[in-house]
Amino acid sequence: MSIPCPYCQHPFPPGAQSCPGCGASLLLEAVPGGTQPVCAVHPTLRGLGTCSRCGTFACARCLRSGPQGETLCVRCHQLEPDAPMPWDQRQELGMWRAFWKTLGQVLLHPGTFSHARAEGRTSDSLLFALLCSVPACFMTGLTYMLIFVGMPSLMEAFPESSQPTGDGSGPVFMRWLGVVMFVATTLLGPPLSVLMTLMGAGVDHLVLRAGGVTRPFNVTLRAHSLSEAAWTLGIVPFIGTQVAPFWALVSRFFAYRGLHRTTTGTALVGTLLAPLASCCLCGGGYIGLLFLIFSRAAQK
Ligand SMILES: [Zn+2]
Ligand SMILES: [Zn+2]
Ligand SMILES: [Zn+2]
Repeated sequence: MSIPCPYCQHPFPPGAQSCPGCGASLLLEAVPGGTQPVCAVHPTLRGLGTCSRCGTFACARCLRSGPQGETLCVRCHQLEPDAPMPWDQRQELGMWRAFWKTLGQVLLHPGTFSHARAEGRTSDSLLFALLCSVPACFMTGLTYMLIFVGMPSLMEAFPESSQPTGDGSGPVFMRWLGVVMFVATTLLGPPLSVLMTLMGAGVDHLVLRAGGVTRPFNVTLRAHSLSEAAWTLGIVPFIGTQVAPFWALVSRFFAYRGLHRTTTGTALVGTLLAPLASCCLCGGGYIGLLFLIFSRAAQK
């Protein structure tokens, strides 16, 4: 529910501190001895809306949006019980429906993190991250296999472009390598990505703590694991794994801000600092490694 701006009547959502219509600050000083309602928490500020639960007036700083979009005061908002995520309701929903519904919620409605239950068991979070990584690992493995199996056939089709391999064991070796790559990526990929989730959450948690977050590590781990939902897009060949990391970062920002009930700034730094730093540190090395592999492959 929105409340009209006292200057221009443009509706503003609870939580806004300046009007989206005219840009005026909504933190209005109350006139001493005046007849206008004042905030129940801040008696020097004018009350702009009433809490739909307890009926007290609240200033712009104290207005909140409830789970159904109703207007709440900051005190009633804090009493609001945290809504479980579908992933927490696996008993009722069944494993796959819970997984599917959680994916939808994380990817399409990340705003719901702001009133979602913050704490979760470590094993529950890691299981979710594990399931999210399976499609991308499977598809990546399949891609490797097709490349390695297909490349020798391609070379045979254009014999003038490739050097003769002597005993002819090259293509067979390449095909076997393709199968080994597929099995390795599909089997080792998911546990490795769970390990990455655990480490990523650990680093992010240190950053978030520095930003003033007080909730424990399992909240960060839960937020980080749920934000891995985007990796299920890895099932779309080639495009999926390009889109997934960015979508995951967007989900992670919402998850950190929501589950830690922290500010936009802290959540943003917590989400981006570690990936940006590791990009700068490892980016050069990674490109170098790729260059080395490709130049070796070209020589052979
Ligand atoms: Zn206005
Ligand atoms: Zn209230
Ligand atoms: Zn107030």
